Amino acid sequence: MTRALYPGSFDPITYGHIDIARRARKLFDELIVGVFSNPNKRTLFPLEERKKLVKRALKEEGLADVKVIGYTGLLIECAKELEVEVVIRGLRVNSDFDYEFQIALTNRDLDSTFETVFLMTSRDYVFLSSSMVKEIKAFGGDVSRFVPRVVEEALERKLQPVARKESR
Ligand code: ADP
Repeated sequence: MTRALYPGSFDPITYGHIDIARRARKLFDELIVGVFSNPNKRTLFPLEERKKLVKRALKEEGLADVKVIGYTGLLIECAKELEVEVVIRGLRVNSDFDYEFQIALTNRDLDSTFETVFLMTSRDYVFLSSSMVKEIKAFGGDVSRFVPRVVEEALERKLQPVARKESR
């Protein structure tokens, strides 16, 4: 049985992330999404909210059997604890590859017990990122093509009051 971990910030989860999760779920017996809490990085959504959105979105997308956890610290430690053999990362454009390759090799040097598997995103989501979605929504744009409804609603609650305040 092969257990895989798909780590990331998921701030918030998008259809691009879901696409990768769906591909990974087909390849491995068990998939765990690890929502990373990085004390050095400011996120729009706190960890618990990001986890909740990931869970809800995956359920809505027919991926209810994917486990969702939060973690902090080194990915290699989390992977050891969960006894995963594979870590999944998504690739969109060339620039992703340079960054991801560096991280994967560094994890190897740090004595990782897993293999990193890169999955290519669907053509539709090549330019999709959480930050792009946040920026569009902050300026009142429509993000329904990029994120599930529950995420869109959460973004509305989080961002619209700010936009309204600024315009006064
Ligand atoms: P991180 O801060 O760890 O990069 P993200 O939530 O931004 O966290 O991304 C988590 C993983 O999902 C990364 O491997 C990233 O390349 C991948 N990813 C993000 N958006 C997409 C997308 N549109 N298509 C495919 N993979 C994606």
